[in-house]
Formats: sequence, structure tokens, C-alpha cells
Amino acid sequence: MSILVFIEQRDGRIRSVSHEALGEATRLKSALGGEVIGVLPCAADPGGASLGAAGADRVRIATHPSFGAYHPAGYTRAVLDAVEEIEPALLLFPASSLGKDLAPRVAARLDVGLASDCTALAVEGGRLIATRPVYAGKAIQKTGFTKAPAVASLRPKVFAAANAGAAGVIESVPVSYDAATSRARLLRTAAAAGGKVDLTESEVIVSGGRGLKGPENFKLVEDLAEALSATVGASRAVVDAGWRPHSEQVGQTGKTVSPKLYVAVGISGAIQHLAGMSSSRCIVAINKDPEAPIFKVADYGLVGDLFEIVPALTEAVRKLNAQHV
Ligand SMILES: Cc1cc2nc3c(=O)[nH]c(=O)nc-3n(C[C@H](O)[C@H](O)[C@H](O)COP(=O)(O)OP(=O)(O)OC[C@H]3O[C@@H](n4cnc5c(N)ncnc54)[C@H](O)[C@@H]3O)c2cc1C
Repeated sequence: MSILVFIEQRDGRIRSVSHEALGEATRLKSALGGEVIGVLPCAADPGGASLGAAGADRVRIATHPSFGAYHPAGYTRAVLDAVEEIEPALLLFPASSLGKDLAPRVAARLDVGLASDCTALAVEGGRLIATRPVYAGKAIQKTGFTKAPAVASLRPKVFAAANAGAAGVIESVPVSYDAATSRARLLRTAAAAGGKVDLTESEVIVSGGRGLKGPENFKLVEDLAEALSATVGASRAVVDAGWRPHSEQVGQTGKTVSPKLYVAVGISGAIQHLAGMSSSRCIVAINKDPEAPIFKVADYGLVGDLFEIVPALTEAVRKLNAQHV
């Protein structure tokens, strides 16, 4: 009853979502038994050795010259090869952009269901149960699996990474796959400018909405974000207005985030926005309307004018930072 975990790397760096998936697999191993095995498609080993300490008993480095960048059909082949050999009870993916593309491909080829974007996994009465928000976060669904392997993708930043364990066994397995026959090809990856941390991997996010009145006032959000070492996010209203890039949009048609701290500035809290951030650990809302729906999910609510509150907050955080240098 092994657990197979797809390991995601980008530019040779293992992504934190993979450490989280390995952490959850290690936790479930005590209930399911078997081994935790990672499958890492790549062109050259990007340091799979460290994955042993991240919770994998075994890491299968699936190599192919075309795997320098994401290769949908090739990665699918690599994971299917591992499934055929290992016959896992459970197959985990991160619900990252790449995982959202790959997991359904693999599940379809295996003719099994996929529980996507899970926020919890548990073994109840010997059966694996996945918990996942549905209908833009309005309801929480608990779902079981009727066929093996159970396939699930995990929402980033929700699951804890494993504590360091014993070094796992690393094996390199070449993938037999003709890249020229692939019907889909990755032409280009457009990375966010300035080496910014991906929103989905951020521990702290400060997001701005239409309450800021204009793109020039986003400086207030950026200043607070800088003081908090946070990443800037945005509501769809301001992205649609062209104030901010789509890469910053949080919500149903943007990114799903679960940071430790989410600060919503001048955001009303429409259901489509809440769908992308309500699983954040601590939510602080700043809004002049006490009836704004964002306050229903906020842990701390500041009712008032953001143009007064945000600069004062930034100043206070800067003072605290200065005391702790
Ligand atoms: C299919 C679909 C998908 C969608 N996907 C997304 C999505 O992914 N993400 C998303 O965000 N939205 C999404 N939306 C849009 C969503 O419904 C809302 O329209 C949007 O979130 C509103 O953005 P906002 O909160 O910035 O603006 P508004 O709703 O206009 O809210 C502005 C807030 O600022 C407050 N405010 C104004 N002035 C001040 C001030 N001086 N001080 C303090 N507060 C002030 C107001 O009280 C108000 O609450 C989607 C909609 C649809 C139909």
C-alpha cells in the first residue's frame, strides 16, 4: 500500500509544494503502511538526494532529455511508468498550475477519479477520505475513492512539510518516450518580473481591491507588503481595470492561496474572491463598510478609511522591524 508522490521541480529547484505533499504522505503512511515513493521527472538530477530527508523512502528520478521544462505527455508517461511498477494505493500531486494540468491527464489514463485541490486527507475505517472546498468555497465536500489508485491533488500551503527523516534510496530511471510524437509542446514560460515569490508559495500576502480608487494608490499596498516581507495580490476588479497584472489575481479565476497571513485592503469579499483565499491561516480585512462580506471570513477587521489605516499600519510595522534588527 505505497504512496506515490509526484515531485515538481522548476529550473532544477524542488518546489515547496512537493515537500508539503511528501509531508502529508509521511503522515498517512502510518495509517496506510507501505513506502513513500517520489517520482521526479527531470532532464538531470536536480538534487533528488535531499528528498529522502523530506520524507521519501525512495525517489525515482525519471530522466528524459526533454524534461528540462514541463512536458505534458512525457511527464504523464513518467508517472504512469511509476504507477505500473509500484501499484500505489494513493497518488499525490500538488494543486499547482503544473499539477492542475498533469493530475487529470494521469487520472484519465488510469481511468480513475481525481479529488482535486484537497485541503485535508484522512484514513477513516481503512478508507481514504479527501476533503475539498467546492462551489467556489461555499461548501466542503468529503469524498471517497472507489478505484485504486486514489488520486488527489493538494492545495499549496495547507499541508505541513515533513520533518527531516532518514535519507531515502535514489534511483535513476530513463523514460522511454518519443518527444517528437507529442501533440502538445511548451513553447515559452513567462516568469513574473523581478524574481517575485509566486503568490501560491507566499507566507504573507497583502492584496488590494477597487477601494484603492486608482493604480497609483497601490503604492500603499506595496509599502505595507514590503514592510511585512509579503507578496502583493489583487482582486479581479483591479486586474480587469488594468491596474495590476493577472499573475497577481486571487480568486476563482485567479490563484488559490493559503498564506499564514492575508491582508485584504479595500476588497469587498465577493464569493469569487473568497474562493481563492478563505483557507488562509489568518485574515485581516481593511474596509470602510462594516457590512462588507470580507468581514465574515476575517480574523481581524479594521473598519475605516484605508487611506488612513494602511500608512499607519505600515509605519507601525516598520517601527517593529527596526526594533528587531
Ligand atoms: C465568473 C466570475 C469569476 C470571478 N473571479 C474572481 C476572482 O478570481 N477574483 C476576484 O477578486 N474576483 C472575481 N470575480 C469578481 C467578483 O465578483 C468581484 O466583482 C470582485 O472581487 C470585486 O473586487 P473588489 O472587492 O476589489 O471591488 P468592490 O467589490 O468594488 O469592493 C471595493 C471595496 O472597497 C471598499 N472601499 C472603498 N473605498 C474604501 C476606503 N477608502 N477605505 C476602505 N475601504 C474602501 C468598499 O467598501 C468595497 O467593499 C469574479 C466574478 C465572476 C462573475
